[in-house]
Amino acid sequence: MGFRLANVDGRAALVVGDDYYDLENASGGRIGSDPMDALASSDQLSDIAAGLSDQAATGKLADAKLGPPSPRPANSFGIGLNYRNHAEEGGMPIPEVPLVFAKFPSCITGPKDDVELRSDFVDYEGELVAIIGKTAKDVSVEDAWGFVAGLCVGQDISDRPAQFNSAPPQFNLGKSFDTYGPIGPILTSPDELEERDSMELTCEVNGEVRQKDSTGDLIFDVQTLVSYLSGIMTLHPGDVIFTGTPGGVGVFQNKLLKDGDVVTTTIDGLGTITNKCVRARDHARADFLPEQMKPLLAGK
Ligand code: ZN
Repeated sequence: MGFRLANVDGRAALVVGDDYYDLENASGGRIGSDPMDALASSDQLSDIAAGLSDQAATGKLADAKLGPPSPRPANSFGIGLNYRNHAEEGGMPIPEVPLVFAKFPSCITGPKDDVELRSDFVDYEGELVAIIGKTAKDVSVEDAWGFVAGLCVGQDISDRPAQFNSAPPQFNLGKSFDTYGPIGPILTSPDELEERDSMELTCEVNGEVRQKDSTGDLIFDVQTLVSYLSGIMTLHPGDVIFTGTPGGVGVFQNKLLKDGDVVTTTIDGLGTITNKCVRARDHARADFLPEQMKPLLAGK
C-alpha cells in the first residue's frame, strides 16, 4: 500500500478518500508540518497512512486550500520533445537523449493558482510530474521507482518569445516566469497506481480539449529520466521533474493563452489542476516572434 500526500495551506497532509489528515499530528510529531519534510520522510508515509483509520480526519479535501505538493524543490527540471507527436508537430527530430531544461523552483505554484501572462504568446503544456522522495545519485533504471515519492499533474507554462529569443534558443527563462509551474492537486505514490506507466492525460482550455494522450507514449519514461539526471547531479527529496508534453500545444494551431482563459489538466488516477490566466504587463521581449513561428501566427 502507498500514500497520497497533499499540501494543505502549507502543511503536509495524508489523503484517504475524501478526507485529509494533518501529517504532523498523524505522525505524533515525528514528521514536521513542512511538505518538504514529508517528502524527505516519504518512506514512512505508507505505514502512517495505513494506521489512519482509527484517527479523526482533520478535514475534507474539497474544502482544503491546496498548495504545490513540493513547494520549495532544490531543483526543478523540464523535459522537451518527450512525445513523438509533439516533436513532429514542431518539425523537430526525435531526441536521442533527454532534452533537459530548468524550470527554476521559483516558478512552482499550486494546483488552483492563477498563471500570470506577460506576453501574447504564452502556451500551455499538460504534463505528468514526478517528485523525488530519496536522495538519488547514479541510480539505475531498474531501481529508479524506489527514488520517486510520487506522481502528480503539472503545467509547463511556456512564454514562447522568451523561450526562443536568443540564438541558439535557451529554454530556461521562458519556462520559469513566476507562476509557470502549477503542480498538484496531490502527490500519489507509485505503488498506489496500477497504471503508473500508462495513464490518460488531457489538457483543456475553456473546456475545449487541446491535448489528449497516454503517458505510456513518453519517449523517455520516469525511470529513465531519474536514472539519467541522477548520473549528472544528485537529486534531492522534493526535486520536481516535468516529464514533457504531448502534441496539441497552442503555438502550432494559433491558440495561445489569453486573459481569462481557464486551463484544466487531468491525468487519470492523479486528479485535475485548474489554472486561470491573468494578463499582466509585458516583459522586455514580449513582442518577439521566433522566425520559425511567424508563418504559424501570421493569422493572429
Ligand atoms: Zn513541457
